[in-house]
Amino acid sequence: MTSKSFVLELMERSKKYAISHTPSPVVADVPVSDRAHTVIFCCADGRIDPKLLFNLSLTDAVVLRNAGCGMPRNINDFLIFDEILELREVLIISHTDCGLTHFTDNIVYEGLKKRVTGHDKEIDEMYIGTFKNCSERVKSDVKFFKSHPLVRRELAEHTFGAVYDIKTGEVTIVES
Ligand SMILES: [Zn+2]
Repeated sequence: MTSKSFVLELMERSKKYAISHTPSPVVADVPVSDRAHTVIFCCADGRIDPKLLFNLSLTDAVVLRNAGCGMPRNINDFLIFDEILELREVLIISHTDCGLTHFTDNIVYEGLKKRVTGHDKEIDEMYIGTFKNCSERVKSDVKFFKSHPLVRRELAEHTFGAVYDIKTGEVTIVES
C-alpha cells in the first residue's frame, strides 16, 4: 500500500490559493527604480520567514535562503540579483536554534560519504557552515560578505547583520 504523496496534496492546496490570487506584475511593467533594492539573506528554516517578520511587499526585498544562511553558497545568487537590480542595502540574519548548530561539518561530510561513494573530494570541497553561536556567526558572515572581492564597495558599506530570536520574534542588529 502506498501512502498519499504530500506533493500531490500541495497541488490540491495550490488550486485553492489560485482562486483568490492577485495577478503579479510582469517584469516589463516594473521599472528598475520600483524593484527591490534590498537583499535579505537568511536560513531556509520554516521558523524564520522574512515576509512575515518585516511585512514585506512584493517589491520590498529579494530574500535569499539556504541551509543555515551559508554565505559562500549565497554569493552566486546575490551577484545575479545585484546585476539585474539596483541593490542598495544588505541584511544578513542568523536565527536562534538554527538546525546547523546541532551538527558539525564532519557529521555532514561523513554522512554524505557513506551515502555517495567515490566522491569524497567533491564532498570535502562543499561548504557546510555549521556553527554554535548565532551572534558570532552573523558577525563572521558580515565580515565575509564585506570583504568578498565581487561585492561592490557601496553595498559592503550598507551591510547589516542581525539575529532573529525564534522565541520572542524579535530581530536585533548585531554590531560587527
Ligand atoms: Zn537555520
